[in-house]
Amino acid sequence: MLDPSPHWLQLSLWSVPPLIAVLAVLGAMVRIKNNRHIPGVHAIVLLLWAVLWWSVSKFFVSIVTPLDLKLLITKIAYAGIVITPVAWFVFALTYTKRQMRLATGMVLAICVMPVITLGLVFTNPLHSLVWENAHLQATGSYTGLVTDPGPWLYVHALYSYGLMVAATAILAFSISQTRDRIKPTLAVIFAPATVAATNIFYVSQFNPFPWFDLTTIGFAAGAMILRLGVLRYGLLDSRPVVRERIVHQLTDGIVVVDPSGNIIDINPSARAILSPSKSELTNTSITNYVHRGSLDKLLANPTRSDPILVGNRAFDVTTSKLDPTDPDSDIALVFRDVTAWRENERELKKMQRELERYAHTDALTGLNNRRIFMQRLDEEAERVRRHGSPLSVLLFDLDHFKRVNDTYGHDAGDKMLICVSQTTNNIKRASDVSARLGGEEFGLLLPETDQQGAAQLAQRLRKAIEASSITLGTGETVSITTSIGVATISRKQDELENVLKHADNALYRAKDSGRNQVCSSEF
Ligand code: GH3
Ligand code: MG
Ligand code: MG
Repeated sequence: MLDPSPHWLQLSLWSVPPLIAVLAVLGAMVRIKNNRHIPGVHAIVLLLWAVLWWSVSKFFVSIVTPLDLKLLITKIAYAGIVITPVAWFVFALTYTKRQMRLATGMVLAICVMPVITLGLVFTNPLHSLVWENAHLQATGSYTGLVTDPGPWLYVHALYSYGLMVAATAILAFSISQTRDRIKPTLAVIFAPATVAATNIFYVSQFNPFPWFDLTTIGFAAGAMILRLGVLRYGLLDSRPVVRERIVHQLTDGIVVVDPSGNIIDINPSARAILSPSKSELTNTSITNYVHRGSLDKLLANPTRSDPILVGNRAFDVTTSKLDPTDPDSDIALVFRDVTAWRENERELKKMQRELERYAHTDALTGLNNRRIFMQRLDEEAERVRRHGSPLSVLLFDLDHFKRVNDTYGHDAGDKMLICVSQTTNNIKRASDVSARLGGEEFGLLLPETDQQGAAQLAQRLRKAIEASSITLGTGETVSITTSIGVATISRKQDELENVLKHADNALYRAKDSGRNQVCSSEF
């Protein structure tokens, strides 16, 4: 039968703990690799590799017997030993700062001490700064390596524990900030604490098994706790991280205020909106930046509110209570910049108004057009029907207007039309409606005016037009006359429908009778 163990190998129960640590770390690795998009995950993978390296080395140290071989493997183990606290620290920073990577300068600075330690480890025979008096110690059938700590080991321990404590504190604080995160917080504290406790015990005077690195048991337990934290309690759960990152990067400003209006949390966009010059806004009142009145209005009626002005920009602000069941709940305000949108809307409304005006008015004279004249006639006729008050209609047509065009040109004709329009507007009352009905034909609606009043006004208008004149570029003045037909209606139904026809007839009579006259409809 073959001897299963050469003389330099030994099999014993002391090799079991490092083996368990290896398996626990591999288990944690498999799980954690699935979360590769979470900030800090690279560092935690590095951490697990370092621990794996350490545990595998310790396993090999435990199964070989020669002193030189044990020492060589111990030196190799140090690579994992020095990286472990660094990786934990980098994990803490990247995870809490929500970054995938740390700045290179920072990483280099953290690594200075581990590199020195590694250098001293491999040159230890020259100075014994890390350990001294390395010797073998037999316990039953097991041969273990025992060393006394050198002075640098304390420096290394101090640095490593400093990093671990700082990292753990940062992590625990950050994770505990999110609600319902007690269990992952505990996992983050207990995993390194277990490792630290076993490691401190291992290097202390009280260790009854100085040849056995108890830290491997700590690693096995720590890796399992960490795995539990990740698997069960969502330590690397992407949701809170992703949510927080979204809030951080959102272009909408988000502010959380307490019931008295003090800002308790604010994202960078909101900070830029409220006070670009000040970096710290927490613990100041939101009313320093947003008008109290509009804020109260918003809180009283969160669903319908006008945009809130901050500086010269307008924001649509929505509010929601963080805890809807609590009347004293903190309130989240979401600011959406609607300045450009509001400007567009204003511009659109202006264009709309202009379009409307365009649809109502005659482009040349600025008077109402025929469409509006007919609409207003309908409205006024309805009033006559209901209240019985009289309504008069004037239709007037310029006399021999064609001659103006023919003699002085079309532009002069246009000028004349404008002049007549102005004269008409000067004569009419505010409640009268003047319109250009087409060509050189105009209409005037005179609400609450009887036939006599209308005839008087028509005469005044006729005279005013006759008296007015336009001056041409040549210095020549041109004037014109007009013929006016007047029709007045009261309640009688058929008159309402025929009023325009009656006025038109009267106008024709005025023309027929030699122009520059007023004729009234006789009904
Ligand atoms: P009457 O006394 O019988 O009304 O004679 P009139 O020349 O005024 O009537 P007629 O209908 O023969 O001619 C009207 C002219 O008005 C013909 C047309 O060229 C001119 N006209 C119509 N609209 C405009 C306009 O917007 N600008 C100018 N300059 N002329 C116009
Ligand atoms: Mg005409
Ligand atoms: Mg005419």
